[in-house]
Amino acid sequence: MVIVGLGPAGLSLLYFLKKFKFNGSVLGIEAKREVGLNKHCAGLVSSSFIKLMWPITKKTIINRLSSFTVTTLTTSKKVYVNLLEEAYVIDRIAYERILFENVSNFNDYLFKQQAIDIVGNTANLSSKNRVRAKIFVIAEGYVHRLRRKILGEKKGERKIYGIQEDIIAKPYDKTSFSVIFTDTFAKGFFGWAIPLDERKVRVGIGGSKVSIGMLRAFEKQLVKRRIISEPIKHGEPYGGVILTSPPERLDHKGKVIFIGDSGFHVKPITGGGLFIHTLFSRSLARSITATDNLDDIGFLNRYYGETAVFRRKLRLQGLIAKILHELNEEEKTKIINDISGEEYYLRNYDFHEKDILLLLTKLQIVKSVMKHSHSIIAAFLRRMAQ
Ligand SMILES: Cc1cc2nc3c(=O)[nH]c(=O)nc-3n(C[C@H](O)[C@H](O)[C@H](O)COP(=O)(O)OP(=O)(O)OC[C@H]3O[C@@H](n4cnc5c(N)ncnc54)[C@H](O)[C@@H]3O)c2cc1C
Repeated sequence: MVIVGLGPAGLSLLYFLKKFKFNGSVLGIEAKREVGLNKHCAGLVSSSFIKLMWPITKKTIINRLSSFTVTTLTTSKKVYVNLLEEAYVIDRIAYERILFENVSNFNDYLFKQQAIDIVGNTANLSSKNRVRAKIFVIAEGYVHRLRRKILGEKKGERKIYGIQEDIIAKPYDKTSFSVIFTDTFAKGFFGWAIPLDERKVRVGIGGSKVSIGMLRAFEKQLVKRRIISEPIKHGEPYGGVILTSPPERLDHKGKVIFIGDSGFHVKPITGGGLFIHTLFSRSLARSITATDNLDDIGFLNRYYGETAVFRRKLRLQGLIAKILHELNEEEKTKIINDISGEEYYLRNYDFHEKDILLLLTKLQIVKSVMKHSHSIIAAFLRRMAQ
């Protein structure tokens, strides 16, 4: 078996193959010279992810967060949401390195080699070498080079760009992160401020057009809003593509299977991928390990059976994301003004569609959604028409 791409998705598949005692031979191929060089993530994860990947996650926790606030830049009001199970910020690079340490003796690896194409049971590499395998798992991330070659463009694919930096500034509350809707700096998505400790905050914006200049201007607004103190030092900006489409019904063509960002295994509202792709990797590893014949792709039935419930949840979340990200700042401001009066509680920070449906049981929110239903329906229709 060949796994292309050793980001968290490819590595988590290796981790579960080892855990479930897969006894076939596996070759991991990675374009970079080592794992952990991709820095594009905010590292915000749920308690379920921490538990699922424990003890790997043990040494990667940077901060624990027990609440978050949601606001826009045009209102002074905020919605306060308490998390009954904490969210965590992890050191994503350390996470990948520790995962790799865990699996490095179990498989063979080729670094600084890029898979260019897969034809039949052969992968062509950038070094002009070829490797043959019974199964190829593509975990190439959001670049989708092999995905486009093999599956073509995904219909209605939605993505935005995210840029962030770690700044030396004091967060007003070290245990709470902020989600800020703003059409000026993060149209079609949101900005975020995630405390890393008492004097460091990860600030980012996502949208169809983002830049360092916009990020710095957004930070000034956070200072004005007393979300962070005046930055003492800026960091080195980093980021990448954030996918906001749910996975499709199938993740494979022939003997090639797509996981992680290359399989759209993300939460469409936030683009968070770590927990979701780990659930998919675990199921795939379980299905692969259970078969005694990798030539027969029938082992994927179990994988699709196990992941059907996640796909349904993520598709529902995709629908909510379409509406939410299409509402403009003025419309979001009205809703936030309406519902900011009381505190809300969520179990944890995983499947946001469940959280949102739970919030809809609150009378104040139902009233606000009804009041603004024309904007919500209009946003949905606008999105569908695109
Ligand atoms: C700005 C930003 C913030 C984010 N914040 C969060 C967050 O807070 N929480 C969260 O859960 N998720 C977050 N995400 C999403 C998360 O980072 C992704 O879902 C996750 O990185 C996907 O992992 P992956 O292994 O599929 O892809 P990647 O991490 O992109 O890894 C792909 C790997 O494949 C290699 N590769 C690519 N092509 C080839 C090839 N042809 N041959 C060989 N190797 C190849 C690459 O070098 C890379 O190592 C964020 C994303 C962005 C952009």
